Amino acid sequence: MSSYTRKEFLRFGAMAVSGTAFAAGFEIEGQEAAGNDDAREPDLVLLNGRVYTVEAETPLVEAFAIKGGRFIAAGSTDDIRNLVGADTDVIDAEGMTVTPGFIDTHCHPSGVNELYGVNTNLRTVADIQAALREKAMETPPGYWVSGFMFDDTKVIDGPLHRTHLDVAVPDHPVNVAHRGGHTNWYNSTAFQLAGITRDTPDPPDGRFARDADGNLSGMVAENARQVFSTVGRRDQLAATERRDRAREGMAHISTLLTATGLTSVHDAGASRDKLVAYQDAFRAGELRHRAYLMVRGPFDDLRNAGISTGFGNEWLRIGGVKYIADGSASERTMRMSTAFEGKPDDFGISTMSQQEIHEVVEEAHRHNWQIGVHANGDVTIDMVLNAYERVLDRWPHPDRRHRIEHCSLVNPRLLQRIKDTGSIPTPFWTYVHFHGEKWPEYGAEKMEWMFAHRSFLDFGIPVPGASDYTPGPFEPLMAIQSMVTRKDFDGRVWGGSQRITVDQALRVATIHGARASYEERVKGSIAVGKLADFVILDRDPHEVNPDEIKDIKVMHTMVGGRTTYSRLS
Ligand SMILES: [Zn+2]
Repeated sequence: MSSYTRKEFLRFGAMAVSGTAFAAGFEIEGQEAAGNDDAREPDLVLLNGRVYTVEAETPLVEAFAIKGGRFIAAGSTDDIRNLVGADTDVIDAEGMTVTPGFIDTHCHPSGVNELYGVNTNLRTVADIQAALREKAMETPPGYWVSGFMFDDTKVIDGPLHRTHLDVAVPDHPVNVAHRGGHTNWYNSTAFQLAGITRDTPDPPDGRFARDADGNLSGMVAENARQVFSTVGRRDQLAATERRDRAREGMAHISTLLTATGLTSVHDAGASRDKLVAYQDAFRAGELRHRAYLMVRGPFDDLRNAGISTGFGNEWLRIGGVKYIADGSASERTMRMSTAFEGKPDDFGISTMSQQEIHEVVEEAHRHNWQIGVHANGDVTIDMVLNAYERVLDRWPHPDRRHRIEHCSLVNPRLLQRIKDTGSIPTPFWTYVHFHGEKWPEYGAEKMEWMFAHRSFLDFGIPVPGASDYTPGPFEPLMAIQSMVTRKDFDGRVWGGSQRITVDQALRVATIHGARASYEERVKGSIAVGKLADFVILDRDPHEVNPDEIKDIKVMHTMVGGRTTYSRLS
């Protein structure tokens, strides 16, 4: 291994810091300027690590140095120790594993429900009833009683039915939201307020589910839920109180995300209020992760103001515009060319027509916006690719990177078209492990082509990973285990042909995530000039039993050289 003098290292570091990578971002409020040419010594060094850099030429090093929030040197412990000055902080990693910070490319962090909502992620009907009853006792008449994080297939004595909700809460309208975000369960009072009876027909883009007797079961899917949006009373909060809660929620969820090793998270559908929550949390110094903001509601206003994808700084950046073209994988409503197992007439639900997809894709593409269209089923992925091919043909762009959110069920023809259009799929990365009880509804054959990380890599597509939290858990080490083993929590294998290696999973979780937001030159690996985002793990995922990767502890997380989480003493 070559050895450098301290002076040579510093010159190299200073050059890199003031070079192209640094020019990509803005200065950040409250953070000291980096890249001053007379920099003398690092702010921080990490020594004695087993550092997986995710850089092809130097994949494994022992140590690195940080200044002004960026890596300025990486190499052997002896080399880096030479750089230590009087004011340099030193982390002795004591042989622990270090990786770049993890990047979740599709998530819905809010934190408000986690702080204030009724958690219905419960395992029995009685527990769900009790949680709702308790909330109803403190809720004024006429107001909704709402639960979140419900998971239908994890209820031992399910299925949950409308009549269960009626028993618990007869007078208020009740809405129990599935963690997947595409289905909700309502009580009879809610149906009455909305004027829905057992004879109401399903709309083309939604469903009022019926039980065996033809009565409303309580479950309502996709856009059929819109009838409930204008009935009952919801909001008891003043605007300032709601804004404060949104900021508190963001700070809370940011703490939880960071504790799992996430340093960057793409918000897959930010509303106006959500943008304000990020801003408020950031200004208050409470945001611990970097956010790439795929917007929904505020798109027109931002576009009219001349803003486009990439605007912002290294903490908060405007991403693409987000649309939803079909149903859900976890709630079994995605639109496929083949039916669900045991339901020969059920091919899932489309929520946008081909024409609608063409229109929104053209609008985004021609205004220099990235677009991310939620498309789980192969039918929907085909429709989205039709639109991407059309706009790229008419208005070519060298590196547009339109995204296919989830992109769950693929085949070789779709994979080739994804490759040819330079599109970015963002498949679920914790689902195989966490949602195992749902996969029999797709069947073994389909599962060989779902959440297909291996196939994407085989086709040369730099695929990232995504939790979609709340639908899936966001822990990246669970994600790595899930992608490496393709086993669920009971040890059943789903789609074994899609297994990838730990090294591939690390790339998925880091540099490929950075690429999905056009930031692979600023983050996603441990390299001189890049943002100093990294995690320390107590064990090496290459060496533990693959079935125990999720149990590896995150010991320390740093974002831009700042500690955002630590259990180091
Ligand atoms: Zn989502």
